[in-house]
Amino acid sequence: MKRILRLLRRPLLVQGALLCLLLALSAAAFWFATTRATRLAEAGIRNAAGETLRLQAETIVSQLDKHRFVPVVLARRREVLNLVSGSPLQPQDPGLRSVLEDTSWLSGSLDIAVAGSDGRILAGVTGLITEQIADSPGLAIPPSQGRLGRSSVKLTNGKRAYGFSSSIRPGGRQHAGSVIVLAPIESIERAWTLSGKPVFATDSRQEIVARDLQAIEFSNDEGLMAMLHPASLASEIEKGGERYALFTRIINPAGWRLHVLENLRPIGEAWSQAALISLLGSALLMVAAMGLANRWLNRIRQIRLERANAIRLERTVRERTRELSHANERLRHTQRELVQAGKLAGLGQMSAALSHEYNQPLAAIRSYADNAAQYLKRGRVKEAEGNITRIAALTARMAAISKDLQNFARRPQERTSAVDLRGVVDGALELIAGRISESGASISVDFPDEPVQVRAGTNRLQQVVINLLTNALDAMAQPAEPGLAGQGRPGSATKGKRGKQSPPDLQITSHREGERVFLKVRDRGPGFSREVAEKMFDPFYTTKAVNQGLGLGLSISYNIIRDFGGTLTARNHPDGGAEFSIELEAWPQTGDPGIKQEAVAAQ
Ligand code: ADP
Repeated sequence: MKRILRLLRRPLLVQGALLCLLLALSAAAFWFATTRATRLAEAGIRNAAGETLRLQAETIVSQLDKHRFVPVVLARRREVLNLVSGSPLQPQDPGLRSVLEDTSWLSGSLDIAVAGSDGRILAGVTGLITEQIADSPGLAIPPSQGRLGRSSVKLTNGKRAYGFSSSIRPGGRQHAGSVIVLAPIESIERAWTLSGKPVFATDSRQEIVARDLQAIEFSNDEGLMAMLHPASLASEIEKGGERYALFTRIINPAGWRLHVLENLRPIGEAWSQAALISLLGSALLMVAAMGLANRWLNRIRQIRLERANAIRLERTVRERTRELSHANERLRHTQRELVQAGKLAGLGQMSAALSHEYNQPLAAIRSYADNAAQYLKRGRVKEAEGNITRIAALTARMAAISKDLQNFARRPQERTSAVDLRGVVDGALELIAGRISESGASISVDFPDEPVQVRAGTNRLQQVVINLLTNALDAMAQPAEPGLAGQGRPGSATKGKRGKQSPPDLQITSHREGERVFLKVRDRGPGFSREVAEKMFDPFYTTKAVNQGLGLGLSISYNIIRDFGGTLTARNHPDGGAEFSIELEAWPQTGDPGIKQEAVAAQ
């Protein structure tokens, strides 16, 4: 089965096989159609011939029957009986002649004659019946035996006729003569002509006794004559390029054979028609079948093409996927390398910052300590004391740096609770009040009237706020960066200098949106560049001078706010300056009456 299916997929093979099959089918159809058509045509001709013969035979019989009884009737007429019984010297009955003439005229016979038993003609109408005719075996013998004589007759003028003879027996005694009637054959022949076919009759000696007009052409045909012979096997003759078949029927009681020649052209025509139809049919079938086969093969080709395309596409997709995964792999590798490089860079940055942060106070401590020793040696205790105080301050600064680092390294999982935001902001402002007044920046704090409580930890939140405020002060202390939206820093501008209309340098605002609380710190500094915006929350990223910042403030703040379940974001304000926004969860949540409050005063 599979093999057959595989073979069916080979277009040339399929087309070849189909063509062979169709040719074989066409040949079979051609043979069947022509044979069948020929048979039918033959049967038709046979039937037509049979019909013609039957009709024409009836014509003969009916034509001759008209004359058959005439001699029988006349033989009983007194005038005739007198004629044969009277002596030869006795004058003829004057009525006889008119009887004979009238009867001949009425019946349409050629001639009527009365012959003696010796065959001598005693009386006649036209004289066509000769002694020889009267004495012919067919007309002379049967009457002497009491039967009706009949015979075809060849007249002296070469024409043919048919004769009937009946015995004349005066007083019912012996055969004394016979009445002979000659029937014309021409009327029969004329009737045959209507059939449109060559029709003719032969007698027992195979001589043509009657024929219609068409048959005249054949009457001298040797082939036909040969065929009429009983021993002949031939059934067809050819004349004028046409073939004819001979059909025969015996006509009783005349003892003739009636023949008709049927033209065989219809057989040839039927054959050609059947051949043409079957060829046309085959051609149509072939065109249709080849068309269908072509469509089918095209469909197969198309399916193959589609399959091939699908496979190609699959392969391309696979290749692309492989290339993509390679590229991804390369990307991941590069990323890993970058991360590694970043880490190293961060580490380098950190160690540079740390070494500077620590080395500077260490160097100072060392020189202060050396000097203190010198002062003590010289007994200048007061100066030594001053140096030791400075040393203590420096170590305190170093401790603060160390604490920052600790905070960064370890994220304490302290509990969160309700924190009064206003209290936290006020506390922070208090703590950096010195720095604020030093910078001369004006500050506005704008809070809703009702208390704003958030989920947080007081100290950590305050640390974040302080970081944002000090960053803002730092930013405003810098000269404005070109191309940034900042409107320039106020510098040492004081409230007095700026006038009442000038907006404050630092705006601290808070508002609540549903369950979220926002705290925004906006400055009038230069804002930040895109590059800074991308990196400012990274640990150890700073744009400040080496001993000014570690670059940990925003990173720590970001993580603290995230620990509270909030977010810390930064943007350049459209009207200039940077704006940092802390978003926190409101506490208590709406519909939560059980408030667990942490007193701000407790800090
Ligand atoms: P540090 O203050 O030690 O530099 P931070 O993490 O607090 O570290 O800040 C990182 C950087 O973010 C700063 O160096 C500065 O470039 C930028 N930055 C922070 N706050 C502001 C601000 N208000 N205006 C402009 N730039 C800011």
